[in-house]
Amino acid sequence: MPNQIPRPKSRMVPGLLLAAVPLALGVSSPGLAQEADQFAKVEIKAEPLAEGVAVLFGAGGNIGVSYGPDGTILIDDQFAPLTEKIRTAVQNLGAGPVDYLINTHWHHDHTGGNENLGKSDVLIMAHDHVRDRLITGNDNVPPAAPEALPVVTYHDGIKLHLNGDEVRVQHMKHAHTDGDSIVFWKKANVVHMGDLFFNKVTLPFIDLSSGGNARGVLAAAEKVLAMVDDDTRIIPGHGPIATKADLQAYRDMMNTVIAAVAKAQGEGKSLQQVQAMKPAAQWDINPDAFIKGDAFVEAVYKSLQRPVHAEDHPH
Ligand SMILES: [Zn+2]
Ligand SMILES: [Zn+2]
Repeated sequence: MPNQIPRPKSRMVPGLLLAAVPLALGVSSPGLAQEADQFAKVEIKAEPLAEGVAVLFGAGGNIGVSYGPDGTILIDDQFAPLTEKIRTAVQNLGAGPVDYLINTHWHHDHTGGNENLGKSDVLIMAHDHVRDRLITGNDNVPPAAPEALPVVTYHDGIKLHLNGDEVRVQHMKHAHTDGDSIVFWKKANVVHMGDLFFNKVTLPFIDLSSGGNARGVLAAAEKVLAMVDDDTRIIPGHGPIATKADLQAYRDMMNTVIAAVAKAQGEGKSLQQVQAMKPAAQWDINPDAFIKGDAFVEAVYKSLQRPVHAEDHPH
């Protein structure tokens, strides 16, 4: 079903929609026909992280799974054509059918399976702005079907007490988007960061058109670092499982680039001048990355031109 992935129109948005497939398959610019083919080829691979907690890798955002006597919770659900494969992978873990779903944010590579799951009576939960943005859509994403919408929404967060663990879902303001949540399993010591953290696969994508801001990405990394220890398994939105040290390196990178861009901006340098300084060059090492140095620097530059939390209520 290639039409599940809208055709990109603007410069910033195509990446966000199409990123997942290229990221997962190592292809830089698939055509629509190829995309259908790519979903057919996608394998969903599970990696156990703790008792009753696993991650699923496929195409799109990494999926967290929590399962046990109280039910099965999914964190994100990739693309609609993958739902059946995801269900099979969940079953192969020894888990029951999915009961609950949490969306880390509204992007299509994390919510594409919502409609399928919603139709199977899965209870969908997410930040208020995820529901708002799914209802509205944008130039590239049509409004979501009613079944795809989160039924339980929250502003600051929510806690689930399931399968002998406390699962803390916490909103992080204006970061990758304006509706990001992290999910932390206290006992299992696992955290899912959604696209607040891209581990090793690309420079950060900051979706300014969805209320994102580079400063929020840095703040989120700081907040999560304060919650975790050296044994925590960190699920990034994209890329392999990470450690606290990986997240520290990411935080340091954000800090360095933001400081360099802020300084140059303070000296009156234009975006082009700041891009020419290549403040992210040291981390811009993957030629196939979805976000390269110039795009990242542009997002940081524009983030810093916005007042902090200027878009708290963008709708
Ligand atoms: Zn993503
Ligand atoms: Zn995203």
